[in-house]
Amino acid sequence: MNEPTRITLPDQDLPTAWYNVVPDLPQPPPPVLHPGTLEPVGPDDLAPLFPMGLIAQEVTSERWVDIPGPVLDVYRMWRPTPLFRARRLEKALGTPARIYYKYEGVSPAGSHKPNTAVAQAFYNASEGVAKLTTETGAGQWGSALAFACAQFGLDCEVWQVRASWDQKPYRRTMMQVWGATVHPSPSDVTETGRRILAEDPNSPGSLGIAISEAVEVAASDPNTKYALGSVLNHVLMHQTVIGQEALAQLAQVGETPDLLVGCTGGGSNFAGLSFPFLREKLAGRMDPVIRCVEPAACPSLTKGVYRYDFGDTAGMTPLVKMHTLGHDFVPDPIHAGGLRYHGMAPLVSHLYELGLLEAEAIGQVECFEAAVLFARTEGIIPAPEPTHALAAAIREARRCRESGEEKVILTALCGHGHFDLRAYEQYLAGELVDYDYPEEKVRQAMERIPAVPA
Ligand SMILES: *Cc1c(COP(=O)(O)O)cnc(C)c1O
Repeated sequence: MNEPTRITLPDQDLPTAWYNVVPDLPQPPPPVLHPGTLEPVGPDDLAPLFPMGLIAQEVTSERWVDIPGPVLDVYRMWRPTPLFRARRLEKALGTPARIYYKYEGVSPAGSHKPNTAVAQAFYNASEGVAKLTTETGAGQWGSALAFACAQFGLDCEVWQVRASWDQKPYRRTMMQVWGATVHPSPSDVTETGRRILAEDPNSPGSLGIAISEAVEVAASDPNTKYALGSVLNHVLMHQTVIGQEALAQLAQVGETPDLLVGCTGGGSNFAGLSFPFLREKLAGRMDPVIRCVEPAACPSLTKGVYRYDFGDTAGMTPLVKMHTLGHDFVPDPIHAGGLRYHGMAPLVSHLYELGLLEAEAIGQVECFEAAVLFARTEGIIPAPEPTHALAAAIREARRCRESGEEKVILTALCGHGHFDLRAYEQYLAGELVDYDYPEEKVRQAMERIPAVPA
């Protein structure tokens, strides 16, 4: 058989515009609200945190936004990324399904995150910003932003969730190599951090707390702005280079997908892969099922409630309508992987409400089983996050073995796991157990969410 296993795009076929799904939707997403007035926020409300170039993208109704030349130049360091047909995995599963994965682990930071980090650093630098602050959970986003800031001569200050700071010292070193300053979160350098440490000196931290710390520092300094690695519309849009390339690569080998599966933390790699295909679907040119996969320990879509909530724990951000577990959510330390944010991207949440997406939650033991099978067949050791999508793809491929269906399954292998070997070590030692986040905790958290009249 001479069908290719590694499907590449010529360098000149690098996408030159990001795709904005909003104008193609049957209904626009609900507005972002000011937490004080409960009125829709305007550009001025967001200006202390973000540069105008990104604020404009957050609310744009243009379908295509040109990618600036300096961003394309940095993308060319690793893009277009390869699309692989998982022939060895298919063989091991004995499935007639054809499984494709778009591999984003070839970026310098090892994940899809630099696709937006580079864009965000560019717009901030071009508006004269001197420093960016941010949070990082698993360490992927902090390292992507540290890399991007180094490219555009910006300072970078990162709050790394305490649990990850303790478990992933080399992600921290990576950020420092690229020139970033890194604090454990909660830290004693912000008011929020000091307040939380006073209540619980051993707090493991959370993304919500780390966001509050990074926002607090950015809001108090006119030369500093804040960068978010997922969730927001502009972040999802920057990631659409993934799906645009994958569309072209599948077309090269004459395939159309029957199923797209993507892991969802805040929703950015999932959106990046799926939105260009959703566009084709809405235009009637293909009809794939599009499915989000999330951890059973942090099930924002499958167990969270679709409500207005804060993006951070301290309540400093605007209110966004999303599937949420409550802004004071702290992930259980049993959970070894990433995907620990309390909310889902408002755009992904909206599409889920519209019935354009499906969602399922999978426990971590099945995810790591899938990851080890994948590593032993395809060679690449996946980051813990995409193991959720791999587990879902494998479930589907096994169903195809029973039914004889030759489905085409597409997923994003959005990062490698070279800095996540502690989690693999725990899995191989039989120390990982499943944890289903209790409905009761979601109900309790909803009582602490601000009331927004319908
Ligand atoms: C950050 C990250 C995620 C989760 O974020 P999304 O916005 O849902 O993509 C998933 N996978 C990897 C490798 C990441 O670094």
